[in-house]
Amino acid sequence: MPERRKLNVVYPGSFDPVTFGHLDLIIRARDIFQKVFVVVAHNSSKNYFFTSGERVKLIYESFKEMDIEDVEVEISEKLITDISREHGYAPLMRGLRAVSDFEYEFQMALTSRRIDKKIETVFMMPSASYTYLSSSLIKEISSMGGDISKFAPKCVIKALKKKHGN
Ligand code: ADP
Repeated sequence: MPERRKLNVVYPGSFDPVTFGHLDLIIRARDIFQKVFVVVAHNSSKNYFFTSGERVKLIYESFKEMDIEDVEVEISEKLITDISREHGYAPLMRGLRAVSDFEYEFQMALTSRRIDKKIETVFMMPSASYTYLSSSLIKEISSMGGDISKFAPKCVIKALKKKHGN
């Protein structure tokens, strides 16, 4: 395979909590980009299930469980365009699961470019087995005591069980 051009990439999101879908994208991105920066959004107008500190901790614990090395995780309250700029205009990575993601992601990518024309967004598709997976889905299954071992790492399962008291 020819040498791929090495760029950094910023992966912003809520990660409330991280799932195998997010992790699948991070693993793919590590093969393409020089460095992956996961940015955990802290948006005061949003109601998260886990605090930003808990979400970061779960991402790092997942990396440990899955032997994912050399990926940075940070918390940010900033606009994603500012985050890209701070990383030397590293492209933003977003996931596309199904057509239903497209409209929102399309709007976000074009708005970011309108704010600053140097901001690019790259889209990655997860493995087919994770295309239906979302953080909301695993929270819902877990709240009813269901088995989410196919969807999220052990540390996430444990943290969800603790929060739900089951
Ligand atoms: P946000 O609130 O920013 O959408 P999420 O944590 O829900 O935060 O998602 C962050 C990014 O990861 C989004 O681009 C989303 O499409 C992507 N993503 C979430 N789940 C999956 C999955 N199962 N497969 C691929 N991408 C995903």
